[in-house]
Amino acid sequence: MTSTDQQTFLSVRDLKVHFSTEDGVVKAVDGLSFDLAKGKTLGIVGESGSGKSVTNLTILGLHDRDRTAIDGEILLDGKDLLTSTERELERLRGNKMSMIFQDALASLSPYHTIGTQIGETYRKHTGASKKEARARAIEMLRRVGIPQPDMRVDDYPHQFSGGMRQRAMIAMALVCDPELLIADEPTTALDVTVQAQIMDLLKDLQQEFGTAIIFITHDLGVIADIADDVLVMYGGRCVERGTKEEVLRTPQHPYTLGLLSSMPSLEGPVDVPLNPIPGSPPSLLNPPSGCRFHPRCTFTEKVAGGLCSTEQPLLDLIDGRGSACHLSLEQRAEFFADVAASRHN
Ligand code: SF4
Repeated sequence: MTSTDQQTFLSVRDLKVHFSTEDGVVKAVDGLSFDLAKGKTLGIVGESGSGKSVTNLTILGLHDRDRTAIDGEILLDGKDLLTSTERELERLRGNKMSMIFQDALASLSPYHTIGTQIGETYRKHTGASKKEARARAIEMLRRVGIPQPDMRVDDYPHQFSGGMRQRAMIAMALVCDPELLIADEPTTALDVTVQAQIMDLLKDLQQEFGTAIIFITHDLGVIADIADDVLVMYGGRCVERGTKEEVLRTPQHPYTLGLLSSMPSLEGPVDVPLNPIPGSPPSLLNPPSGCRFHPRCTFTEKVAGGLCSTEQPLLDLIDGRGSACHLSLEQRAEFFADVAASRHN
C-alpha cells in the first residue's frame, strides 16, 4: 500500500503531454496517474527523456502552451490546473506550489541581490512592503542555514558558494510557504556533504510545514534517503510504483532492476561489479511498439508469443503497488533473485 492514501493533495489522472516539433509529435508523457498527500515525498525516477521533468513543468503550467497538447486531469487541492487560466496559475505558483531547479546560478538573476530576489517573490504574492519583504528574506535565509543572514541578504549570487546559492533558491521557493514543492534534481551539481545538508533541510522544512514534495532524480540513492513513495518512469510512462521499501527491496520491473544493478549496493559488499543498462532511452518521436523497454530488456525471451514487442503491458496496481510488465510475478521473483544473487557472488 502506498503511503499517500491519506488525504490526497495532488492528483494526476491519465496525463498525456504531447508536443509538436519539426520532426513530428513527441509523446513526452503518455498516460500518467499518481496521488500525493501533504507531508509526503514522492520520488520520480528515470533517465533523462523519461518524461519526469515535463510532467512537473506541466503541473506548474510552465509548458509551451502553443505547441503542447495536454489531456487528462491535474487536481491541486481539488482545483483543476489544466482548466485554470494563466493568471490563476501564476497566483498558485509561489503561493501554493513552487519549484527548485537543478541549477541555482541559472535560476537566480546576477543583477539583483539575494535578498531582493527572495523579497520580490514574497511581495508579489502577499503585497507586503519592501521592509516586510526584507525581514522575511532574512528570516528565510536563516531558516535554510545561511550564516549571518542579516548581512548576506545584500550579497549578489556570485558572492555565494554553490551550496549557499542552492539554499538561497530553496529559501525563494519556500518564501510563501507553498503546500507543494517540486524539486528537480536539486542536489545533482553539489558535493556529497552539501547534498546531504540540503536533503536534511528539505526534510526539516517538510516536517515543519507539512509540505508535499515531488523529488525528481535519476539517482536511487537519493530516493532511498528522501522518498516515501516511488514512481519509476520509462519512455513517458510509469513502469513501476510502490513505497520506497517495496520498489528498492523487491523491484518488479526489469527497468527498475536495471537501475538498481547499475548503482553501488547500499548494503552489500563494495566490490560488486556494476551492470549499466545496455542501449539508450527510446525516442519519443517514434517510441518502440509494445513495451517501450523491450529493445533493452534481457527478459523478452521469457515472455511467450513475442508479446513484449507487440503489446503494451498495462500498469497493474493493487493498493498503489505494481508494475507494467508481461512477466508473471512468479517469473520475476525467480529471475530477479538470480540477478541479485549474481551481484553478490
Ligand atoms: Fe521486459 Fe517484456 Fe517486461 Fe517489457 S514487458 S519489461 S520487454 S519482459
